[in-house]
Amino acid sequence: MQKVISRRKKTIRDIDVRDKRVLVRADFNVPLDENGAIEDDTRIRASLPTIRYLCERDARVILCSHLDRPKGVVVERLRLALVANRLSVLLDRPVAALQDCIGPEVESAVAGMSGGDVVLLENLRFHPEERTDDPAFAEDLARLADIYVNDAFGASHRAHASIAGVPEHLPAVAGLLLAKEVETFTRILQDPERPFAAVIGGAKVSDKLEVLENIISRVDLLIIGGGMAATFLASRGYGTGRSHVETDSLDDVRGISATATERGVRLLLPRDVVVAESLEAGTRARVVPAAEIPDDRIIADIGPAAASEFCRELGDCRTVVWNGPMGVFEIPEFAEGTRRIAATLATLHGTTVVGGGSTADAVTRFGLADRMTHVSTGGGAALTMLAGKPLPGVEALEDTEEP
Ligand code: ADP
Ligand code: MG
Repeated sequence: MQKVISRRKKTIRDIDVRDKRVLVRADFNVPLDENGAIEDDTRIRASLPTIRYLCERDARVILCSHLDRPKGVVVERLRLALVANRLSVLLDRPVAALQDCIGPEVESAVAGMSGGDVVLLENLRFHPEERTDDPAFAEDLARLADIYVNDAFGASHRAHASIAGVPEHLPAVAGLLLAKEVETFTRILQDPERPFAAVIGGAKVSDKLEVLENIISRVDLLIIGGGMAATFLASRGYGTGRSHVETDSLDDVRGISATATERGVRLLLPRDVVVAESLEAGTRARVVPAAEIPDDRIIADIGPAAASEFCRELGDCRTVVWNGPMGVFEIPEFAEGTRRIAATLATLHGTTVVGGGSTADAVTRFGLADRMTHVSTGGGAALTMLAGKPLPGVEALEDTEEP
């Protein structure tokens, strides 16, 4: 069986950080509302344990992150000062926001820090060199510190300068959040308590093929919902109306079904679905059996019978990983399938892991995030782990000495 992560990586607990200058790559890529305010500070809160650990040991904490996609130029509304303000409140200590992330002014600000001080460098993506993993840019960042800590799980699938370049120049270890994320996914993929189920949904099957192909050989039960259910249903000859069927993925989907049969994995598709004229609020929706989808309708959610069957089956599982909503949950008429899965996982006696930006968002909206064992802070990074592929940001860290 494919290995998920080759060796155990060192964390900040494995090295001496006292009084050191520590460059922490965090993931402060928070959603902003239309007024430019922070809409959800989950990712900022998730970084607090690492920052507190370092402050308690009188390290000089130099934080860095990207925010959104400024495309290599300064975008005023994407300055990290607003994150520094929120951090300062959450940590109950000053967090200085610097005007850039490299250069002489940043170096002199860092030189003036005392033990326990925290500064936040400016948005890394104001420099195009961040995304191109430019060696000189990575060196300029590395020059600021004695130790590098990666706590940015959500960015660790990208080989950018602050993720993959800086660790070439400094002792590099995992922060507490990164370690928790990687350990959680590694454990459920390599040694899950059984029965082990995966619930996979979301818009497109083509986004999730690698995940499905990896997970099908590990789970006991695979449940399919969301937009991708249309492609699964079509691959079995069902009419799917005007739902988006990814014809290029039909063969891959048949392959996944064949693997499931070979390995004795139960693969469940929705037996009924909510269909609508369009995926917009206010359109007339109704429930039909999966075998009777009208030609002029689109699948918008799993139906109530499917939700009941899925929830009953999940109730017997000891480990469940969930990626991808069951329907267009952003619209209340099409949120019920997703809500019922979330409610079932919230009361499950076992390990529940939620990965994926929209899925985490859905669980948070339902007020059930803290009822899950783990809600990942990473979208693409969680999918990369579920696909069994290495994360560049993890690979770049130092291995522990143990075999
Ligand atoms: P995640 O971010 O959790 O990995 P995805 O990005 O794969 O999830 O998919 C999320 C999107 O899938 C949501 O915006 C949701 O509206 C959409 N979606 C779910 N079901 C359907 C459907 N039946 N038709 C179209 N889109 C859907
Ligand atoms: Mg998504």
